[in-house]
Amino acid sequence: MSSMMKAAVFVEPGRIELVDKRIPEVGPNDALIRITTTTICGTDIHILKGEYPVAKGLTIGHEPVGVIEKLGSAVQGYKEGQRVIAGAICPNFNSYAAQDGAPSQDGSYLIPSGLCGCHGLKATAGWRFGNLIDGTQAEYVLVPDAEGNLAPIPDGLTDEQVLMCPDIMSTGFKGAENANIRIGDTVVIFAQGPIGLCATAGARLLGASTIITVDGNNHRLGISKKMGADLTLNFKNCDVVAEVMKITNGRGADSAIEALGTQATFESALRVLKPGGTLSSLGVYSSDLKIPLSAFAAGLGDHRINTALCPGGKERMRRLLNVVASGRVDLGVLVTHSYKLEDIVAAYDLFAHQRDGVLKIAIKP
Ligand SMILES: [Zn+2]
Repeated sequence: MSSMMKAAVFVEPGRIELVDKRIPEVGPNDALIRITTTTICGTDIHILKGEYPVAKGLTIGHEPVGVIEKLGSAVQGYKEGQRVIAGAICPNFNSYAAQDGAPSQDGSYLIPSGLCGCHGLKATAGWRFGNLIDGTQAEYVLVPDAEGNLAPIPDGLTDEQVLMCPDIMSTGFKGAENANIRIGDTVVIFAQGPIGLCATAGARLLGASTIITVDGNNHRLGISKKMGADLTLNFKNCDVVAEVMKITNGRGADSAIEALGTQATFESALRVLKPGGTLSSLGVYSSDLKIPLSAFAAGLGDHRINTALCPGGKERMRRLLNVVASGRVDLGVLVTHSYKLEDIVAAYDLFAHQRDGVLKIAIKP
């Protein structure tokens, strides 16, 4: 094994490039994974554009599928050579944040560098790959706190079938779980990108019986029907709030899931809700939100607003892999393109410009 590898790093806004990097040393709690497939996330496009700041020279990417190359001396329960995934979010499950029920907000490892309070709770800091430590768009990635974060891939599943588990499926399903869906519910899901499509699949699995999806792209609305949408609304051709009120006989939806991160989608998600309904927000917002007074019933409507970052960890990953293995949903259909790691700059260009019906791109070292 050579000591060097290829990795896609952030150079400056507008530039992510492939460079040679040293393969990392394996500490006692780490695992070195040889990446067999990874992908590009919408969040990586925010990084590329300079809208989400990361350190120059950081390897990007947070969706690993691969093989254990080397295990740290303290890591129990896995074998070198085993096929695994790890969550996009990889907290230390001994942390205060994890024991407080919010592992994705674990900043415990930042305490020694003074970047986090003494209790280690720091918003989004459980997201380490391609954010705070080197990520997965490389030949190898080092998984920290590996015993809590690695999940073996069930026999017979391809890389493409499990590629959504680390992030997109975990996030989208969390959006459905946070919507407090009950059997028979009416749910409206705003935006049908990969995460919104997974939220749609999650809403169906949880028992929603009228699933209404909203997007401006008819191709994506077509795919959302395959994921479980009963009705699709193109916001360019209709007044979405009025349509939902018509469909529900003026009652309003039991819950709404926001999967984009804009004022317009957040506000519409609130306006379609029944009193007592739940707004589950997944989007990454880039400016202050305004809450409209009427839709919010002046604060007296018993509404709930839930936010989430992708859940990680081996138990979460085991459940998601089990959903795939049982055939309950097929998210492999979201993988529309495949590129070699050496061509990742072209893959970023395709993905950033949403050409050619792209949803997710398999990147293979
Ligand atoms: Zn992501």
